Amino acid sequence: MSCIFCRIASGEIPSHRVLETENVVAFHDLSPQAPIHVLVIPRAHIESVGAAQPEHAAVLGELLLACRQVAEQLRVLESGFRVVLNTGPNGGQTVPHLHAHVLAGRHLTWPPG
Ligand code: AMP
Ligand code: ZN
Repeated sequence: MSCIFCRIASGEIPSHRVLETENVVAFHDLSPQAPIHVLVIPRAHIESVGAAQPEHAAVLGELLLACRQVAEQLRVLESGFRVVLNTGPNGGQTVPHLHAHVLAGRHLTWPPG
């Protein structure tokens, strides 16, 4: 198993976990781009949003609800947060295991760079 996020999901590589369920894991990003920067991943290896299939609908829904749960736990539900899914080379995806970034704790500008 060479995928770094599969290895994080299995616990083989340590991470600072925020929450975990049967199907998703959330942990702090190693290189935070905001005061709060958490990654939420499915335990199953889905490469990207571009690779998602109809049978992934339930886990994709769980992923988004886990982002909300992370925001609630870290107390930014009211102040706001951003969920980012970088997909493919032009989308800025560097790790080929689907992950949602939950960014919060400062005003995030738009459009993104
Ligand atoms: P992306 O560029 O959207 O593919 O995001 C990949 C993210 O994974 C980056 O924000 C990295 O800082 C983060 N990252 C890479 N390796 C680790 C790791 N071992 N633990 C936590 N975050 C990581
Ligand atoms: Zn993987």
